[in-house]
Amino acid sequence: MKQKINQIRKPVRTISGVTPLAVVIKPRKCNHGTCIYCPGGDVVPQSYTTKSPAIMRALNLAFDPYRQVKTRLDMLKTMGHPTGKIELIILGGTFMQYNLDYQYGFVKKCFDALNGKNSKNLAEAKKLNETAEHRCVAMCIENRPDNCSDKEIKRMLEMGTTRVEIGVQMPSDKIYQKIHRGHCVQDVIDATKRLKEAGFKLGYHIMPGLPGSNPRKDLKMFKEIFEKEEFRPDQLKLYPCQVVKTAPLAKLAKQMHYKPYTEKQTSEVLSKMYLEIPPYCRIMRVIREFPKETLVDGLTRLDLRKDIEIGLRNKKFKINEIRMREVGFNPKNLNQELKLNVLKYKASGGDEFFLEIVNKENILFGLLRLRLNKVAMIRELHVYGQALELGAKGKISQHKGLGKWLMEEAEKIAKQNKYKKIYVISGIGVREYYRKLGYKLEEPYMAKKL
Ligand code: SF4
Repeated sequence: MKQKINQIRKPVRTISGVTPLAVVIKPRKCNHGTCIYCPGGDVVPQSYTTKSPAIMRALNLAFDPYRQVKTRLDMLKTMGHPTGKIELIILGGTFMQYNLDYQYGFVKKCFDALNGKNSKNLAEAKKLNETAEHRCVAMCIENRPDNCSDKEIKRMLEMGTTRVEIGVQMPSDKIYQKIHRGHCVQDVIDATKRLKEAGFKLGYHIMPGLPGSNPRKDLKMFKEIFEKEEFRPDQLKLYPCQVVKTAPLAKLAKQMHYKPYTEKQTSEVLSKMYLEIPPYCRIMRVIREFPKETLVDGLTRLDLRKDIEIGLRNKKFKINEIRMREVGFNPKNLNQELKLNVLKYKASGGDEFFLEIVNKENILFGLLRLRLNKVAMIRELHVYGQALELGAKGKISQHKGLGKWLMEEAEKIAKQNKYKKIYVISGIGVREYYRKLGYKLEEPYMAKKL
């Protein structure tokens, strides 16, 4: 059934081209203990409270992955969202620390629910999903920087992961000690390199306003995240520190003389951060969705992002950040004359090429991330616009060949740089698309000779 965009409830959910579907893993204590700002619950995963909607849904379904995916698919359909292209988001802190049977079993059951059929094993479930009605076009896991060893990365790839989010908070060993993070900055640097080399799209969780910091220090560290080539993430979640009732910080705040940022401070710090973000980075979220009643102190305005972005637009600041430039978040009747920009930058010892298709107002219609180092690796291909059902002809950018344009340009760059082969990390449900472009499966990637 074709879907008219104006019939969709909450269209912003699918405005970036795919339909996100969050599944929550069962509660488990992190190996290192509890970071002092972490809600640290027993009945839900450590970094969440029982009050957020996605967590409540999961709790009601006893964290059963099959039922979570199935229920959510039904709900999305009822709300009018297309469900042909799903981004599976596995929520819950530190997935790689769970026992292996649980990890594999969890992912397999998610695929089974998307496929509408129980498979013998993960390999069969993935194969089926390549041509299923509900295809997993991207998969994201949340993880810690010290759980990104080569072995763990191999496992992430085997499961079909395409995006990894790691908790970075602020890259400072002093702060890490104060907040009991249990890892150091070098772990972030190593994880960043390994994840990018493996082709993942990489997101950092950033936490301004931690004990031991202040707005000046936060901004300095934030700038370093983009100035230093060992960081340079593709995406960010900006989560200013809030004091949750159940977090160790609720008890420690007094003795630490700690106060979280006020709304005004948060707004100022975040606005300044927006201006530091280069064109290759996207702000995924701003502010954790902790309900008011779970907080002792800290920001309660969940929608502060809107104010910050309106403020920046009104002041006519030049924003490079991806999301604010995406076609879906900008006025209709845009100029459709499109051109390709290529931004080259160094990151973790490799060359990154950020290809973007924009119009003359710098509105973004599609992007591709190519990394050249040991191999030529496409880490992301994304064409923006409202998600459409598979096979539906779009008036907007998604099905008009922008993806092919970006892929051809990436292949050209790899060839010019003397690479004989190019790889792409592919969501299981996008493999068919790459096959049409001449790529073959070389587990876990799709590959093409140049
Ligand atoms: S690593 Fe994440 S989930 Fe684990 S204690 Fe720290 S904040 Fe909580």
